[in-house]
This record gives sequence, C-alpha cells and structure tokens, in this order.
Amino acid sequence: MKAEIIAVGSELLLGEIANTNAQYLSEWLATCGIDVHYHTVVGDNRERMVEVVTRAQERAELIVITGGLGPTEDDLTKEVVADLLGRGLHVDQPAYDRIEAFLKTRERVMTDNERKQALVIEGADVLTNEAGLAPGMSLHADKHQYILLPGVPREMKRIIADHFEHLLGKETIKSRTLRFFGIGESALNDRLADLIRTARNPSIAPYAELAEVRLRLTAKAFDERETLEMLDTLEQQVLDEVGTHFYGYGDASLPAVVLDRCRKAGLTLAAAESLTGGAFASGLTDIAGASDVFRGGAVVYADAAKVNVLGVEQTLLDEQTAVSRDVAIAMAEGARALYETDLAIALTGEAGPTSNSGQAVGTVYCALAQASGTQVLELTYPAFDRGMIRLRSVKDAYFMLLK
Ligand code: ATP
Ligand code: MG
Repeated sequence: MKAEIIAVGSELLLGEIANTNAQYLSEWLATCGIDVHYHTVVGDNRERMVEVVTRAQERAELIVITGGLGPTEDDLTKEVVADLLGRGLHVDQPAYDRIEAFLKTRERVMTDNERKQALVIEGADVLTNEAGLAPGMSLHADKHQYILLPGVPREMKRIIADHFEHLLGKETIKSRTLRFFGIGESALNDRLADLIRTARNPSIAPYAELAEVRLRLTAKAFDERETLEMLDTLEQQVLDEVGTHFYGYGDASLPAVVLDRCRKAGLTLAAAESLTGGAFASGLTDIAGASDVFRGGAVVYADAAKVNVLGVEQTLLDEQTAVSRDVAIAMAEGARALYETDLAIALTGEAGPTSNSGQAVGTVYCALAQASGTQVLELTYPAFDRGMIRLRSVKDAYFMLLK
C-alpha cells in the first residue's frame, strides 16, 4: 500500500513551525509496513488544497491529512475532502455533546465555529478525540482510504493510539504451503535464489523433508484480498521456475494427491511391489476412503511369487533378473490384469546392502501400466541406505502417477 501524508497549515509554509506531524506519521506507517511515497505541505487555501488532494489520489492509496480540522475559518480540510468526494457533512452527536459539555464547564454557549468541529463527512468512521474537541475521520472512497487527523500533535497522536486498528484495519497474515518432489532443498534454493533473497512481504521459507521440499509463502496486508493476490503472484513466480516439481498444497501428502487425482479422473489403481514390500500400498491405505481408487496390491518379493501371483515369465526372470525394466513391465501389467484396474504401479529394485541380482544397489525400476501402454522409470539412488532407497522408490512411484 502506497501512502501520502498531507500536512495542512500556512504556518508550516511560513516556517513558523516544523512539520513534525509528518515525521511522526511516517514512522507510524513504517511500523505498519506501509510505504510512504510523498510528504506534501499545503497552506490553508481551498484551491491549493483541492489541487494537492487530487494529486495524492493519483499516486497513493492511503491519504493521511493532518491539520485544518479546527473551529476557525481557515480550517478547511473536511470541506475540501467532502466536496471532492461529492459527500455532505453532518453533525456527529457524540462530538457535539463533548463540545457542549466542555463549554458548559466554562459557562459559555456554542458559537457557529465551535459547532463546525462536530461536523463529519458522511459515511466516515468517526475517530473520537480524547485530547481535544475535533474528532478525526477515516473513510473509504473509490480505491482510496482517507484519514483526517487534527494538527495539534498531542491530539493527532492520541487518536492514532486510541484508534490504531480502526484506522488501518487489522493486518491479516496468510500463508500458503507449496509442496515439491524430486528436487533437493539446495537445488530449489539455487533456482529460486533471487526470489528468496528479495521477497520480504510476501516472504518465502523453504523446509526440507525426505526427498521433498515445502515452500511456505507468507503475505501480510490490511486487506485479505490483497494478501491472497500477493500469494497468487508469488506462487506463479515460483511455479514458473520449479513448477515441474510441484505436486500440491499444504498438508496434502503425495499419496493423498494421487488418490485425489485418480478419484477425480475416475481411475482405479493397483500395485505390485518387490523391494518396497507393500509400503506403496500402505501409504495409500493410510488415507481413509482410499478404496474407491486403490483396489489391491501384491507383495511379490521372491521370484516364485512374481511368477505365481502375477504371471511373470520364469524365462524373463532367468534372463534379465528380477531387477530389470522388462520384469517391472511384466509385474505392472500382471497387477493391472489381476486387480482389473485402469492403472497399476510395479516396483522392483536392489535395496541392498548387498546385491542379489547383480544390479548395483540403489537401482530401481518403477513401471506404470495403463490402457495406452506401460512406461518405465529407471531410478538410481545412493547405495548406502536401504531405508532411504525403499522410501524414495515409493515416493517416486506416487510422483510418476502425477505426471
Ligand atoms: P485545532 O482543532 O486545534 O484547530 P487543527 O486540526 O485545526 O487543530 P491546525 O489549526 O492546522 O490544526 O494546527 C494547530 C496547531 O497544531 C498548530 O498551531 C501547530 O502548533 C500544530 N501543528 C499543526 N500542523 C502541524 C504539523 N504538521 N507539525 C507539527 N505541528 C503542527
Ligand atoms: Mg486550526
């Protein structure tokens, strides 16, 4: 939000007083995260005040005016703003009562000029002034917010202190988490280096998980719609860079997103698992309601099970070993036929610590069978961690279904 501060008062132009109100307001707005782009000083002159407020409307969203709310002829701020917005002025009864009560203590009756201090712009929120008689005002018109404050510094500060949230609304903070798979934290940081370095509001914070990274985008603004627009813009910038690794939002895990996508597409799913021993199926069935998508899975660990349960050819196993592209294909197609599903995933590989098949530890084949044919992914993981190889295989299989 861009702001302009307008200080009204000929005494400021004459150099009789320094414009300390503008300094105070700038400091206040800075603590609220609002950028002040201009300070303007104008005398108590209707024509020039109209000119200055009109200019501010062109270059600021928030226009804060201090001074000119008092009882004298030269206090014109309310009239000028009301005229520019095509609004009238009316008496604010609480302000009127305060003036009347004040005069009573001095045994005086109200003059027309004193009554003028109780006038407020139609549709404005009245900001009671506990330190004086002229109330402040806050109003929204078109795309602008106007805040009118008295010139007397003590009164201006008191109104800000008493009405801070009312003046600017409560700041809303919104966060959005984007989830990525298949890219490490440092690679993601590199690709988003400029964005991460420069983004303050909205800001970006990465969190690494096993084979996954979450990016938390956070935006602060006084208007909820503005925070959402800020998040949308930043999300688009992030996805332009690393969108191929993006799979979902917030708490939606990979298997949850898989189920969701399949459900929406009306697709059923089965699995044939060797090295992962059922972990792929387990991840899906952790989620309630998985049965409308996930039909079943076979844990076919030994070669004989691959043959007997899924109809993988013994000769294929003999010639190529269980850890091979063709066996992965045969397992996926076998599972698809067995469970009569649209899709079937097969996982076979060497989880280590030593190799049974002759293939390097960390070699994994993941096949996806569907009506249009069967694709295979050859994956190679670092050989040192059996648990990690099995877990990564499961996640790679989920991600393959999202491509
Ligand atoms: P009042 O209701 O008391 O008449 P007002 O809103 O009409 O207040 P002004 O008449 O413009 O305000 O100013 C009142 C006094 O407040 C000034 O004489 C000056 O001492 C102080 N003042 C006004 N504007 C500023 C400013 N921008 N910076 C510092 N002091 C200011
Ligand atoms: Mg005055």
